[in-house]
Amino acid sequence: NMANMTEQVLMFEEMKKLASTDSLTGIHNRRNFITLAREELEKSERYDRPLSFIILDIDRFKNINDTYGHQSGDLVLAQLANTVIENKRAEDLFGRYGGDEFIILPRGEISKEGMQLHCERIRNAIEGFEFCSEDVCVRITVSLGFHLMEAGSGDTEAMLSDLIHKADQALYRAKERGRNRTESLF
Ligand code: GH3
Ligand code: MG
Repeated sequence: NMANMTEQVLMFEEMKKLASTDSLTGIHNRRNFITLAREELEKSERYDRPLSFIILDIDRFKNINDTYGHQSGDLVLAQLANTVIENKRAEDLFGRYGGDEFIILPRGEISKEGMQLHCERIRNAIEGFEFCSEDVCVRITVSLGFHLMEAGSGDTEAMLSDLIHKADQALYRAKERGRNRTESLF
């Protein structure tokens, strides 16, 4: 009957959502993000637009867990996701890459200078934010690495993994150079 079918459709939608969402933060999980990023990459090739990728990682997050407990750590992760949402552009894709690592795929106008500014805006917002649970507030900083790639004629999968790899290398550089900063390989 009709009510049953509606219920099944709703249940299916709910399952799809659960499978594509990170339950702690409510944003795209890694698998879903990569699927969406792949579509973006195909579009960027079709319209000959550059594509970029930001990886953001909390500095010394292990200390937060060790000092305040895993639950407080979880709260920080959830509030961090909100802070990024409030400071990224509405059209940017945002996902949790895993652990304390997040990924952003900007979708508006993209340039190297613009990307650096965009990353710094997010970094500054997080640096200035107090992450509070009922009884305690903490401050955190994050490091960001970004990469930007001109649309190429290359293989989509190769370009995607290259983009992620270069952004990750840039993040590593940010950690190495003292954390709480944005780096790229440019
Ligand atoms: P770095 O500045 O080099 O990034 O230091 P770090 O301590 O952030 O790096 P490391 O990779 O050693 O530690 C990441 C920590 O993130 C370890 C792990 O316990 C914590 N973590 C990962 N996923 C979760 C989660 O879902 N909840 C909580 N509370 N902690 C998590
Ligand atoms: Mg970290």
